[in-house]
Amino acid sequence: MKSYITTPIYYVNGSPHIGHAFTSVMADILKRNRQALGCDVMLSTGVDEHGQKNQEAAAELGMGYQEFLDMRGKEFRSVFDLVGISYDYFVRTSREGHKQAVAGMEQTIFDKDLIVKKNYTGTYCKGCEEFKKESDLTEDGQCPLHPTMQVEQTEETNYFLKMEPFRERLLQHIADNPDFVQPEAFRNELKQMLAEPLEDLCISRPKSRVTLGVDLPFDPDFVTYVWFDALTNYLTNIDWPEDGYQSWWAECEHLIGKDILKPHGVYWPIMLMAAGLPLPKKLSVHSHWVGAGGVKMSKSIGNVVDPIEVVEKLGVDALRWYLARHMRADSDSQISVELITQTYNSELGNKIGNLLSRVAKFSNKNFGGKVPAPGPLSAEDEALRKSVVEAASGFSRWIDLQDIPARTQAIVTLAEEMNEYIDKQAPWTLFKSEDTRERCQTVIYVTLDCLRVIMEALQQVIPGSADKALAMLNAPAAPRPWTPVLDRLEGNGDLGEIESLFPRVQ
Ligand SMILES: [Zn+2]
Repeated sequence: MKSYITTPIYYVNGSPHIGHAFTSVMADILKRNRQALGCDVMLSTGVDEHGQKNQEAAAELGMGYQEFLDMRGKEFRSVFDLVGISYDYFVRTSREGHKQAVAGMEQTIFDKDLIVKKNYTGTYCKGCEEFKKESDLTEDGQCPLHPTMQVEQTEETNYFLKMEPFRERLLQHIADNPDFVQPEAFRNELKQMLAEPLEDLCISRPKSRVTLGVDLPFDPDFVTYVWFDALTNYLTNIDWPEDGYQSWWAECEHLIGKDILKPHGVYWPIMLMAAGLPLPKKLSVHSHWVGAGGVKMSKSIGNVVDPIEVVEKLGVDALRWYLARHMRADSDSQISVELITQTYNSELGNKIGNLLSRVAKFSNKNFGGKVPAPGPLSAEDEALRKSVVEAASGFSRWIDLQDIPARTQAIVTLAEEMNEYIDKQAPWTLFKSEDTRERCQTVIYVTLDCLRVIMEALQQVIPGSADKALAMLNAPAAPRPWTPVLDRLEGNGDLGEIESLFPRVQ
C-alpha cells in the first residue's frame, strides 16, 4: 500500500520558524508510522519561491532573486535536516518541470472556457496575496491574518477562474467523504466557506507588479497567482502529468495549518475539478502554536521559540516530543522554551530515560554486562506486559495527525506504570539474597524487554533517541511490518554501552 504525505510549501520571505518545523515533524511522524506498517511512503516538503512577498523580501536584502532563493532554500532545508525530517522530495517551485506543468494545467482549464479576463477593483492583502471581500476584513478594514500589513485598493485587469460552477459538487464531495477534512471543526468551517456563492478566483498578476512567478501560457503579460502555482506542487512532485503519478495521488494527504484551509479546501479542489483531476484523499488540519499563557509569539514580547535554539539547548527529540505530545487538535497550543524543557525533564528524562539507565546499569553491573535470563513470570509481570502491548499497539495501527498526542500520552502513562512496577518489585533488594536472585533476573528482564518494545514504538516519534536506547539494549532489528512483540530481547544476551539518554537540563 502507498501513502503520499505533503506539507505546505513555505514562503521564503522569512526564516524558518517553529510553525514550519511543526508541520514537517508531524508529517515525518506519520511517514515513520506508515513505514512501520509496511506502506510505501512518499513525503514532500519544501519552499514556495514565487510571488510578491518573496520578490519584495529579496529586494529588501538587496539580493538577486536566484541568490535569495538559493539562500533561503538552503536555510529551510538545513532546519528540516536538523529536526530530522526524512523527506523524499524537497520542493522548489522555481524548478523548470514544475513551471511547465503549472502552465499546462492553466492551459487545460483555459481551453475549457473556465478562465475569463476582466477588470477588477478591490481590496488587496499583500500578505495573503489575494483580493479580499469587505466581509473578510476586520472592523478597521484590515486583513485579520495580516493586521499590520495595510490592505491596498487595487484596480487591475486579470484572469479569473470560475468557481461557482463547482461549489455544489465540492459540497457533495465533502458530504460523501467525511474523512476528506479532519478534524470535524475544520470540516464545518469549510462547509461554511462554501455556504454562499463563490466569486471567481483571480489567478493572475500583471507583470507590472509581480514578475517572480510562472508566465501565463495564454498571455505573457501576466504571471500565475502564487497559490495556483504553489498548490500544483502536490501533483508535480509525483511527476504529473507523466504517467505513474496516479497511484501516489490516490493516496495523497495534505497536512495544513488552519490559516490555509481556504486555498486547500476551496481553491485547490476546484482547480482540480476544473482540470478534470481527482481530489486528494484527505486534508489534515492543525491549529497554531502560541506562547505560554496563550500570548501570540512576537519578537517584541520576546517569546518566539526558535527551533534551532531549542535543538541546540535540548536536542532534537525534546522538540519533536513536545510538538507531538502537546499539539491540540482544534485549538491553539502553547509553547515556550521553558515548557519544552519541563516536558523534556519530566517525561523523557524522569519517566523514560532514568528508568532505562537505572535498570540497564544495574543489569550491567550485577549480571556481567548481560540481560539476565528470566524465570517464571508472576501475575504482576504479566499485567505490565499486557499494558505495554496495549500502549505500544497505538504505533502498530494507522496514525492520523490528530491521533498523535493521545498515542504519545499512552506511552507516558505506561512509563509511569513501569516506574511503579520497578519500585514495588525492588530488584536491588531481591538481588541481595540467593533465594530471590532468580526473581530479580525476571524483573530486570521483563523491564528491559518492555523498554525495548516502547523504544521500538518511539522510533516513529523520536527516532534518534529510540535508536540509541535500542543500541544500549543490543536489541535485534525491529520486525517490519511492526507490531509490539514481547520476549525479543535475548536472555543472557550482551548489553550495549550504557549512556544517559536524556541528560537533565536546567
Ligand atoms: Zn492577509
